[in-house]
Amino acid sequence: MDTTDVAAIVTGGASGLGGATVRRLAKDGARVVAIDLPKAVDDAEALDGVEYVGADVTDEDQVSAAVEAATATGLPLRVVVNCAGIGTAGRVLSKKGPHDLAVFNQVIGVNLIGTFNVMRLAAEAIAQTEPLADGARGVVVNTASVAAFEGQIGQIAYSASKGGVVGMTVPAARDLAQYGIRVMTIAPGIIDTPMLAGVEESFREQLAAGIPFPQRLGRPDEYAQLVAQIIEHDYLNAEVIRFDGGLRMQPR
Ligand code: NAP
Repeated sequence: MDTTDVAAIVTGGASGLGGATVRRLAKDGARVVAIDLPKAVDDAEALDGVEYVGADVTDEDQVSAAVEAATATGLPLRVVVNCAGIGTAGRVLSKKGPHDLAVFNQVIGVNLIGTFNVMRLAAEAIAQTEPLADGARGVVVNTASVAAFEGQIGQIAYSASKGGVVGMTVPAARDLAQYGIRVMTIAPGIIDTPMLAGVEESFREQLAAGIPFPQRLGRPDEYAQLVAQIIEHDYLNAEVIRFDGGLRMQPR
């Protein structure tokens, strides 16, 4: 699928992996609606072909308004990339007691239910576009994590949420096949984004040392490159791609 003259939605689009994806899709000729929380949108750099919309991915009305902004471009909405996400640390049980249930709910709410909310509402708009010659209408790329497979100590909520994103991949692709919409999931390893901003250089080097090759953290533009390749490659569907330099996370 070609990204020229199509509308695209990217959540978490004002930061990190989403920000890199917004820049890449805009450079490739798409009109991008970048969804993020209002504070992040206020601080985002202005880019040609990019409209920032302040919205919480868990909110039906706010996401519907963002989808309307994408359709209002007059270009067919063909691309949705879900990058909005949060991480927390907490064990099932620790010396402080059982894991906080509200925190667990919040992580599932943003990472899993937010991803689902955007996918379902955007899919409705994509399904109303004219199909291309081969029947294709669009592609959804969701973001999981290698923590979906090898969650570390303290990652119970995050791993559960990302496991859910992985689990949605096949049924979502099956549900949306009749509309010509593909669904793919990327499971990143350790990528150098603002999520790692507070991490000290020595710990960064320690993280990189655990990655087989290339022995460095991943770059957001490499994530965006993979998104572009998924969009372009019409036969990729219903699959989870690890994007991790061969990393297999250890318990801690
Ligand atoms: P990031 O720089 O923190 O970007 C995530 C963006 O999502 C932030 O701007 C954040 O806003 C926004 N967001 C949070 N909750 C939201 C909500 N309810 N509605 C709308 N936007 C919301 O993180 P990143 O590193 O780019 O991560 C992007 C995705 O990749 C996440 O799903 C993350 O779990 C996943 N991932 C990242 C890595 C990594 O190593 N970086 C590895 C594996 C998976 P605030 O900053 O205001 O919270």
